[in-house]
Amino acid sequence: MKYVLVTGGVVSGLGKGVTASSIGVVLKGCGLRVTSIKIDPYLNTDAGTMSPFEHGEVFVLDDGGEVDLDLGNYERFLDVTLTRENNITTGKIYKSVLEKERRGDYLGKTVQVVPHITDAIKDWIESVAAIPVDGKDAPADVCVIELGGTVGDIESMPFIEALRQLSFSVGQDNFCLIHVSLIPVIGVVGEQKTKPTQHSVRELRALGLTPHLLACRSAQPLLENTKDKLSRFCHVPAGNILNIHDVPNIWHIPLLLRNQNAHTTILKQLDLLSIATPPHLQ
Ligand code: ADP
Repeated sequence: MKYVLVTGGVVSGLGKGVTASSIGVVLKGCGLRVTSIKIDPYLNTDAGTMSPFEHGEVFVLDDGGEVDLDLGNYERFLDVTLTRENNITTGKIYKSVLEKERRGDYLGKTVQVVPHITDAIKDWIESVAAIPVDGKDAPADVCVIELGGTVGDIESMPFIEALRQLSFSVGQDNFCLIHVSLIPVIGVVGEQKTKPTQHSVRELRALGLTPHLLACRSAQPLLENTKDKLSRFCHVPAGNILNIHDVPNIWHIPLLLRNQNAHTTILKQLDLLSIATPPHLQ
């Protein structure tokens, strides 16, 4: 299984979900089968009890699972049918670990965040990624994982650590990290500011994950010197810096990614170039 992890920096509501779904669309357009997992680091077991005024729409899956609205994006963008297991929350992970602890499955061991919670996260990801969601029998080629929240949040730390361990165990040809970040423009000077992105990439790298691509959200397309600066300070080649500026309609985003050859960079990282076809998006 190949994994594409999408993380977010600087602020929430950046468009991680839409970016992750659009990456899935472009990979699917290259002839690959794609599944997805959304991680929500909150303690609620699912989104069913959360106020839509605070959290947005609760999306109800075919199996009755009440989940984050991003799973609706994945189903619509990728034409897949997800299960409640495709939405991982801190609540679900702790619930499963605590149930195992009460059953005595840990055989007297001290149950800890590392390794027990992190192992539960890795096991959950690996078993759910293998479930076919497009009506075919075999597992998908690529699993796009979106980590909700913002890198550096206390509540996402066990997930970051589990994903770091996962990236190491699956090997570098099977793991591609895309960090979605914000490039604001301050005041009348109109300069695109890279510092918030520099800090969030530094935070990610301090936690043991280095992004292979940056997906930069900005009002206007990125200038060349903004890309150069990002490349120099974030340890990401300029060619791997994607520009996801504001568009009038989110269905433009897969095309925006395809036009910047995002698929080539991702497929190269995942060693899939030889089996993929040129992207065909309808
Ligand atoms: P996150 O997953 O980071 O919380 P979402 O993917 O839910 O963010 O997106 C937040 C909002 O921003 C959504 O309403 C989405 O339609 C909008 N959005 C995302 N990307 C873009 C873009 N490039 N242009 C315009 N709107 C966008």
